[in-house]
Amino acid sequence: MTIHNLPYLINPSLRMSSPYLQVRWHTIGQELLRHEALFATPERQVYTVGGKCEVMCEASEKLLDLYYAFSTDFNRLRIQQWLRRQLRDFIVRTAEQALPARLHELERQKNLYCKRVTVRKLRKNVLGQCSHNGEITLPPKLVLFPQRMSDAVMLHEMAHLRHHHHRKSFWQFLSVLLGEDATAEKMKNDLAYIEKHSMIEFLLK
Ligand SMILES: [Zn+2]
Repeated sequence: MTIHNLPYLINPSLRMSSPYLQVRWHTIGQELLRHEALFATPERQVYTVGGKCEVMCEASEKLLDLYYAFSTDFNRLRIQQWLRRQLRDFIVRTAEQALPARLHELERQKNLYCKRVTVRKLRKNVLGQCSHNGEITLPPKLVLFPQRMSDAVMLHEMAHLRHHHHRKSFWQFLSVLLGEDATAEKMKNDLAYIEKHSMIEFLLK
């Protein structure tokens, strides 16, 4: 594995924001960066080369702040691997909290309750699962999707609480939950998903 094998480079031109999270980049002076890096906390991770801090990241609820210097070289494999780990951990942690919270909100709105909700990685093209005993599983990547789209995925799984199939009665019920035609909604979602898909798969691999 070399830097040239990576399909994406993570650097300050990477913009990532969704209803649930945001990644922000800040340039600061090299001296300040190295000074701040001395005060490590559990929320503050530091990437160093030869004992000197090159990037520092701070995670809080919904926000990942990345601090770097003008001299920071992002075109190296190790820094890329480190950044990817930071992003992935942040996304997964946020998803584990935010997705069940949103699902419970939708449950109350629709008066339709699942038995349990779990956030975990699913097969590549699966956006959600609902088991026959009413347990819903959502993949962490949903936390990066636009609200309308992640809501539609949750409502799709919730509709399976009533209809354990994809026959006509399912789509009719889902259309009621969505407040619009479910088959048209599905096509819009598929398109939006394809656009973002490969970058997200790379980050969460
Ligand atoms: Zn389904």
